[in-house]
Amino acid sequence: MLHKNRLLKGAICALFTVGGLPAVSHAAVVASVKPLGFIAAAIADGVTPVEVLLPDGASEHDYSLRPSDIKRIKNADLLVWVGPEMEAFLPQSAAQLPAQKNLELSALPAVKPLLIKGADAHEDEGGEHHPHHDEHSAEQGEHHHHGEYNMHLWMSPEIARKSAVAIHDKLLELMPQRKDKLDANLQQFEADLAAAETSIRAQLAPVKDRGYFVFHDAYGYFEKQYGLSPRGHFTVNPEIQPGAQRLHQIRTELVEQKAVCVFAEPQFRPAVIQAVARGTSVRQGTLDPLGTNLSVVRDSYVQFLKQLSGQYASCLKGD
Ligand SMILES: [Zn+2]
Repeated sequence: MLHKNRLLKGAICALFTVGGLPAVSHAAVVASVKPLGFIAAAIADGVTPVEVLLPDGASEHDYSLRPSDIKRIKNADLLVWVGPEMEAFLPQSAAQLPAQKNLELSALPAVKPLLIKGADAHEDEGGEHHPHHDEHSAEQGEHHHHGEYNMHLWMSPEIARKSAVAIHDKLLELMPQRKDKLDANLQQFEADLAAAETSIRAQLAPVKDRGYFVFHDAYGYFEKQYGLSPRGHFTVNPEIQPGAQRLHQIRTELVEQKAVCVFAEPQFRPAVIQAVARGTSVRQGTLDPLGTNLSVVRDSYVQFLKQLSGQYASCLKGD
């Protein structure tokens, strides 16, 4: 196992990781959130370790970096993140990295044309009479700016594919001697992703016309990719309580049976969802937009997509 390559930085890091030791001046791929770590792990498998900043249970919308995070970013071979409109905790640290170690996915020319509008933009288009922007009420002291686009880019298999290519290219620049492995990993990821998409499409086809509500506005890319029929979300930012008017509107639709499911998330209290669903026949499911229960290994990203698909399907089909 220990051949000449062990002197390569990547191999040394891998040894540290296998032993589970906290490596001190450890360089690695550092991803902001787990699903981006999943994509990176597919490409970096056997080349360099992947670490994730956001701990399980934390929200991508209001995380603050710990001193150890800042150190990890500084020592990273590569930082993978969405951009300042998603990870508001990152721009300062990212700006201190040299450009070749800073991969901001939303800024990639291959990704930009694939961005979709955020929910508020959608709602403004809709003819429904519900008041928009009810999250923007006075009760929220610190309001996080939400840009024009939905920035949950890891929900898009298409953007994941572009991201994998970009991660591959960055790692290749940094470690040209690992070209064969990086190329093989990218090919494998693309093949696994294509296969997963086919099975997800088949799983969701029978339920794609069933209405439902999600807890927060995270799922637009996935829903669009598979032609699902969301009726709306409880909140744009899960840290902000849904407004009374929004809740009333959702309840009205549930009573009128325009939706068969309401989806909570593992991190967020379902009390508000239970209250809205009370006395209706709507089912309650859970969607995990961050793959909380999955470890960061080579095939985690396709597992993540399949898990989401399964979570949609089991509630929407209702058996
Ligand atoms: Zn989110």
